[in-house]
Amino acid sequence: MPGTEPAAPLIDTTRPHPARVYDWYLGGKDNYPVDEELGRRIASLNGDAPRAARANRWFMHRATRRLVASAGIRQFLDIGTGIPTEPNLHQIAQRVAPDARVVYVDNDPIVLAHAGALLRGTEEGVTEYVQADARDPQQILERAGEILDFGRPVALSLIALMHFIADEDGAYDIVGTLVDALAPGSCLVLSCMTADFEPEQVREGIAAYQASGVTLVARDRAQVGRFFTGLDLVEPGIVSVRDWRPELAEDESDIGPGPVSLYGGVGIKP
Ligand code: SAH
Repeated sequence: MPGTEPAAPLIDTTRPHPARVYDWYLGGKDNYPVDEELGRRIASLNGDAPRAARANRWFMHRATRRLVASAGIRQFLDIGTGIPTEPNLHQIAQRVAPDARVVYVDNDPIVLAHAGALLRGTEEGVTEYVQADARDPQQILERAGEILDFGRPVALSLIALMHFIADEDGAYDIVGTLVDALAPGSCLVLSCMTADFEPEQVREGIAAYQASGVTLVARDRAQVGRFFTGLDLVEPGIVSVRDWRPELAEDESDIGPGPVSLYGGVGIKP
């Protein structure tokens, strides 16, 4: 009967969405003219934006491989997953450990629309998609708890997510709530935009996002470090994502010299 089914979340093509602009930077096809327009504007202010997006993906690859291979992590909670871009996190993890279990979370309906690509994993492993907002960490923990065993180590990955959540919207409390729920031996993998390296371009880029109605915040190294409170940072600490353990690179295309404007780090819960 009309009106009795839950409404599918609407994809709003009248204003840009972060997941779709990011998809445009990565050369994806799941974006709309409004997203491309903002992407081009940012790239004209800061030619480095697409390079930063690629470098951020490579950081995710290296950190995920490292956690599966050396830290024995078999469970992942990836919040702010984004539109699927191959290889996705579960493919990287399951290549090393086919039994890895991955829960993906995003709040953008376009990610839900493409979630099928996130769910094709190994038979031994599990991949699940949860449509939820990072600003409701309790709900995420409850739903992820149906798939993941929080009594055992989990890697919480918040990659290129927290710059969309301002301090006033509880950024640090959100990460604190999530990290508190993790068992010893769990990890936090986080990357976040910074204006430390290219202050002018990044400030102009933020203004362009904000003019389009998207909250975007840059954090300096100490502010990014605060997300890792109570955790032991893995070497080399918090660095530009490009410089995080480059020796672990496997199949990266060259992104050229110089830092990119995202800090990344990995912390382990003692
Ligand atoms: N983690 C991926 C994608 C980063 S793009 C990568 O690093 O490659 C940022 C993603 O965070 C987008 O898909 C966007 O929809 C999502 N996001 C932004 N704010 C969010 C929120 N409050 N809750 C959940 N997801 C959010």
